[in-house]
Amino acid sequence: MRVANQSGRLVLVADGRAVDVETASSGRFAADPQQVFECWDEFVSWARTVDFSTAPPLIESELRAPVPRPGQIFAVGVNYADHVEESGLELPDTPFVFTKFPASITGPFDTIEHPGGSVDFEVELVAVIGKDAHHVPADRGWDHIAGVTLGQDLSERELQLSGPPPQQFSLGKSFAGFTPIGPVLVTADEFADRDDIEVSTVLSGELMQHSRTRHLIFPIPVLVSYLSSIVPLRPGDLIFTGTPSGIGFTRDPKRLIGADDELVSRAEGIGEMRHRFVVGTRPHPLSLFSKTTAG
Ligand code: ZN
Repeated sequence: MRVANQSGRLVLVADGRAVDVETASSGRFAADPQQVFECWDEFVSWARTVDFSTAPPLIESELRAPVPRPGQIFAVGVNYADHVEESGLELPDTPFVFTKFPASITGPFDTIEHPGGSVDFEVELVAVIGKDAHHVPADRGWDHIAGVTLGQDLSERELQLSGPPPQQFSLGKSFAGFTPIGPVLVTADEFADRDDIEVSTVLSGELMQHSRTRHLIFPIPVLVSYLSSIVPLRPGDLIFTGTPSGIGFTRDPKRLIGADDELVSRAEGIGEMRHRFVVGTRPHPLSLFSKTTAG
């Protein structure tokens, strides 16, 4: 099953067609795409009965973030061995977790303001929680997932890596628009192997990242188990699972996102996001503390 957020309304998607959920269910399920995760199992049962034969075409340009207002966003750093190596770090014994603040969510085709500094790409598979999870064993981890979507963990490296360790991962990855997700949410049963999904990044025509989620050091069920052993996970929460090698910041020379670039992100079985950037006019946040700017 595939669901999307078309102009703020929850739709079911199949064969290029979109069924408006509130209308087709006569109001049993709300139009708000965020609310559906509160009654996910009931929704999935109903969705199996839906007839797409007379549904209008999906309008790609109207797609927004399939999970528009997650309560919590967890993100995992250095979760692919090849990315650990290019970052010059040791293989982690436990997941390295930070947050992307929820107000940084944006849609799959939106224009994003470039804040200056060193803006980098990190393609990631994103797991969406579909059922309360607290102290969940790893072998039950997938039972608490509504589905997966595609995400970019956009990162401004100057702010992210400023100051003494552990630095500013959460802020450096939470500028407005820095958490694009989409274009659709796909349930795990749609994949030949839900633990082996191909992801890639193409920046202005050049393939920059390409891997598969079977290379995750800590796969999705382990992340659900570990996170839920600490904090309750709620329906509609997101887990950014980590990025493979090929990011721009560790290349020689660096290849960062410029204002003219088009960023294309892909995930097998989910689809493609395309983002353009517009130069911001505000000073970089770190300049607020620069000793050299005082007259
Ligand atoms: Zn990341």
